Amino acid sequence: MKIIVQKYGGTSVGTTERIKAVAQRIKGYIDNGYSVVVIVSAMGKSTDELVRLAGEITAQPSKREMDMLLSTGEQISIALLAMALHEAGLTAVSYTGSQIRMVTDGNFTNAKIHSISSEKIHDALRSNNVVIVAGFQGVDRDDNITTLGRGGSDTSAVAIAAALGVRDCEIYTDVDGVYTADPRIVARTRKLREISYEEMLELARLGAGVLHSRSVEFAKKYDVRLHVRSSFSSEEGTIVTSREEMMEKFVISGVTAKSDEAKVTIRDIVDRPGVASKLFGCLGENKIYVNMIVQSTGHDGKASISFTVKKDDLARAKELCGGLKGDLGGTSVESKEDIAIVSAVGVGMLSSYGVAGRMFEVLSRENVNIEMISTSEIGISCVIDSKYAELAVKIIHKAFLEENQ
Ligand code: ASP
Ligand code: MG
Repeated sequence: MKIIVQKYGGTSVGTTERIKAVAQRIKGYIDNGYSVVVIVSAMGKSTDELVRLAGEITAQPSKREMDMLLSTGEQISIALLAMALHEAGLTAVSYTGSQIRMVTDGNFTNAKIHSISSEKIHDALRSNNVVIVAGFQGVDRDDNITTLGRGGSDTSAVAIAAALGVRDCEIYTDVDGVYTADPRIVARTRKLREISYEEMLELARLGAGVLHSRSVEFAKKYDVRLHVRSSFSSEEGTIVTSREEMMEKFVISGVTAKSDEAKVTIRDIVDRPGVASKLFGCLGENKIYVNMIVQSTGHDGKASISFTVKKDDLARAKELCGGLKGDLGGTSVESKEDIAIVSAVGVGMLSSYGVAGRMFEVLSRENVNIEMISTSEIGISCVIDSKYAELAVKIIHKAFLEENQ
């Protein structure tokens, strides 16, 4: 049995017309001898609509009830798709997450998958069914309905592919692949034929969120090859695979900018062991996600530390830092909200020299001041003033992805 796993996002099943078109696409695979397992998201923006309804009742909905509510969106789309497949002359059956025993932890609204039972899916496939599974949802050990976090259907799809031992998983989304930069910013952006799991994860972390990050982690772990493509065309999209399998490795394969973080600086803290641990320990205990951290070299027993946090957490982070100032010996806590983090990502960086230097030079030529820098194995990020974000993406893209093609 040649099994393919396909996931259709909200846009792809946004209307009944679109659902019928998806049924036709699936029929094409069946006609070519495939057994198809389909994971679907809720129609269009219906999950947002459910969130809005909850908001009309309460500002603090119970997370358990939120999952009970949000999981209904997918239950609608799986049933409608099953009917559309029946109309197309195919046998098809839909299942909720709990019906296929998609068991998760009990962390409502952001649950993690523990296990999936592939038996039911296999049985249904053997009886010649197209198997349709509701994405985004699972069930905890006490049979409470859970969801995997917004955008989580991608993760459901990859987890199901992994559980079935299927190598290929197609992700149909509203873009036709992964691009070197946001096409709304860069005119000469290109669709990548392939990209590695690591680059995808790095791009997601740095602001280019085509896929739910956890889906990429799963794909990497279980060696599931993803094909990100559009349900509106038959064009090839982008293959997300392991580095080893890639034909070409670009020094830079993507340039991103994100502006949802703010910078905090504490000046003149004492330069001795335990200070950073106290500061970041405290932020961590308070569930504040810290991204970039830069500490200046100590001078006269003093140093300063800057870091970035989500803008939503800024007020709380400053308050906590203010409270610690006495312990840390800092003179002031400053913050800046209008920053952007501009990044370049590429596995080719692992075997190239001078990439960082070149990126800094490109920025300096346009007089863009770099306020913080951080690097990973395959990425370089700079904090700059937010008013230069688009310019920075354009010129970095031009330097690395347009000039030497
Ligand atoms: N419907 C859910 C959401 O909008 C899950 C998904 O689309 O992946 O977040
Ligand atoms: Mg999505």
